[in-house]
Amino acid sequence: MDAPVAIFAGLLLACGSVCAQVPESGRTQELRFSADEVDARMEDRYIDRTVGLAAAGRLDEDRALLARLRYISAELIRAAVELKPEAAQWQWEVHTTSDPEVDAICMAGGKILVGSAFVHQLDLTDGELATLLGHEVAHVVAEHHRETFSEAMLLNRLPVVPLDVVMARLDSDLSLQIRLSKLSSMQESEADHLGMVLVHRAGWAAQDMVSFYRKLAASEQSALVSSAYPATASRLSMAQGMARLFGE
Ligand SMILES: [Zn+2]
Repeated sequence: MDAPVAIFAGLLLACGSVCAQVPESGRTQELRFSADEVDARMEDRYIDRTVGLAAAGRLDEDRALLARLRYISAELIRAAVELKPEAAQWQWEVHTTSDPEVDAICMAGGKILVGSAFVHQLDLTDGELATLLGHEVAHVVAEHHRETFSEAMLLNRLPVVPLDVVMARLDSDLSLQIRLSKLSSMQESEADHLGMVLVHRAGWAAQDMVSFYRKLAASEQSALVSSAYPATASRLSMAQGMARLFGE
């Protein structure tokens, strides 16, 4: 962290926000809710989700995939902690589900859920799977959930309201979601870049990353491809550019 930013970090600004900085990119964020509060709420959501999937018999049925995810995520988590030391205190969890609606998510605080149908549809190798996980882990390293909730409150000009209220509003208010789409799109690009840095630091070859984005571009119907994401062709170009930066 740069010295001037370090001075600001953790200090409450006049508007009631905390100024933070995204690792690697150095982008400044204005954050309103505490990381502990956001992590706790997202953990509740993760538990609800995984308990529901378990009850439906759709959690961790693919034991081979679960073992791959655990092995691959261990090094990514080590790389994440290098960039964000607080991540060492998170209760990281990894699960897989056969729910076809799920591609991959990582909730604030390190809660990972990967859809087996998505992985098998793209026939991902370990290095490509690391790239998928790297993108998701990058979202939490960059505190994108916390930033989105903070921005939602600012955009709606809400008075200081509890996080639960903001989260419920975000789930149900389409116009708010649309107004946040520019932020979402920027976060997706940032997660692609930061994710590749994590995957590189975890020891995977840049060609695995390029190959992942090539497969994604070839599979346009994928649920991972939404309007919030940059076009898959530009994501592939980005991956090829990053591979050159890594000297591969
Ligand atoms: Zn993403």
